[in-house]
Amino acid sequence: MLLCLLGACAAEDPGPFIDAPPLRFYYDAVKGPPCAGTAPYLARVVARQASWLGLPLPERIDYHYRYANLAPDCPASAPACADERNGVPTVWTQYPSMPHELVHAIVFPMRPVRFFAEGLAVALGGDDGLVAPPLSFYSTPPEKLFDGSLEDRLVYYPLAGDFAAHLLDRYGPEPFVRLSARAVRGTTTPEVLATFNDIYGVTLEQAMAERVAAADLHADARLGFPECGEEPTPWHDGRWSLSGTFDCADTGISTSPYPPAVGRYVTTDVPADGFYRVVFQGDPSSVYFHAFNLQRCGSGEQITYWSTGSPITTHLVMAGRHPLTVAWLRAGRHFVHASGNVEERMTFSASLEPSSMGSVTCNQTANDIDPQTDGVYVVPSLAEPPAVLRFTVPTVRAAKPMFSGASFALCDDVCSTDGTGCTMPTTSDMLTLQPGHTYALVSRATSPRGFAGLALP
Ligand SMILES: [Zn+2]
Repeated sequence: MLLCLLGACAAEDPGPFIDAPPLRFYYDAVKGPPCAGTAPYLARVVARQASWLGLPLPERIDYHYRYANLAPDCPASAPACADERNGVPTVWTQYPSMPHELVHAIVFPMRPVRFFAEGLAVALGGDDGLVAPPLSFYSTPPEKLFDGSLEDRLVYYPLAGDFAAHLLDRYGPEPFVRLSARAVRGTTTPEVLATFNDIYGVTLEQAMAERVAAADLHADARLGFPECGEEPTPWHDGRWSLSGTFDCADTGISTSPYPPAVGRYVTTDVPADGFYRVVFQGDPSSVYFHAFNLQRCGSGEQITYWSTGSPITTHLVMAGRHPLTVAWLRAGRHFVHASGNVEERMTFSASLEPSSMGSVTCNQTANDIDPQTDGVYVVPSLAEPPAVLRFTVPTVRAAKPMFSGASFALCDDVCSTDGTGCTMPTTSDMLTLQPGHTYALVSRATSPRGFAGLALP
C-alpha cells in the first residue's frame, strides 16, 4: 500500500490509453503504445468470444498493459490476471495481447469454479506460452482439479485448457456456459461432479477418457479462437496464395508474448483432407526472426515455421525445427500467423496447394523428390490415419530421419501402411537413398506435437 498524506489518497494515474470499445487499453507512457493494430484486434476478439459463448459483452473492460511486475494487482509472478474493480472487468498484463484475460472478463458475472474458468480462458485465449499436455496428465484424480491441491500450473493450465477445448469442440459452447453458471465458486467437489454429469450426460472421468481416446489435437491446449476471426482468403484454380505486409505503425498486432513481435493473421479454408505443399516467404530478412504458424481453427494440426532470415527461406518446424515442404492438413478453416521484428515493415507470402507426394494408402504413384529441394517431408501432429509418403530419388541422396512423438518407419520397395516389413531407423541413423528404389515413409503421431520426417540435407 502507498502511504497517504493527510488521510487522502489520490488514485494512481493509470497512464495514457487507447479507446477501442469495449476496451480501454492503458499503456506505459515511457515505453509507448503497442503496435497500432493491437487494441482494435483485442476489441474484435472479445466481441467474438462473447458472441460465440452467447454472453453479454461487457460495456467496458479496463486493460492495463504494463512491463513491470503486476503486483499488487496480480498474484506474484503471474504474467497477467483479471478482476473486477468498481464493477468494471479489469485486466493487468505484461504482454500486449492477452485474449485469455478477456475470456475471464466476459464470464466474471458467473464466477465459475477455477478449473472451468481457466479451462475456458486457455481454450479460447491466444498464445500463452503453454503447450498441449501429454495425455498422461488425464490420470489426475478429478478431486485434485477442484480442491486446490494440484498446484503445478504447468500441469493445471494445459490440462484445464485441453479438456475445455475438447468439450467446446465436441459439444459446442452452450453446455459449457451452463456448467460455468451452475458450478460456481464455493460449490463442493461432489456437487461440481454431479453438475457436470447432469449437463453432459457422462461423468467427468468418462468425458476425460473420451478425450484421451479421441485423436483430437489441440495445439497449445487451445482452439486458435482469437486468430480465426478474419474472413478467409479464397482459393483459385485449386491453389491458395496470399501476399501482404504488416507494420507495427500501421495495422500490425503485437502478437507473440516472447520475444516481442508484430504480426498479422489471415485465414483460409482447406478444401479437403490431404497432403499439401506449404510455402512461406518473408521479407526483408529480419535480423531478429520471422515466423509463420499454420494452425487449424478448432481441433487439428499446428505447424510452425521459423525462418532464419535468409531470402532463400529455410523453413523450420517446431518440436525439432526442421525444414518442411509437404504436410498433411485436415479440411477446414486454418489461420496463418506471420510475425516478425517490431522494428521492420514485413512483406510475406504464403501458399498452399495439393501435393501428390503423400498418401494414406499404397496406391499413389511414387514421386521423384526434387533434387533441388532440400527439405523434410513430414507428417506433423497426425494420429489417424497414419500417413504414407512414397517417393523415389533421382540421384543417391543422404537422408536423416527426424521424428518426435511419432512412430516412424522407412520402407524400401515394400508397400505398407503400418510399417510392417520396413525398417525402424533411429534419429541418429544416416540413411543412403538409392535411385531405382521406391521408398515409403510411414508415420503416426503418438503425442499432440508428434511429427515425423526425413531430412535431405
Ligand atoms: Zn486465467
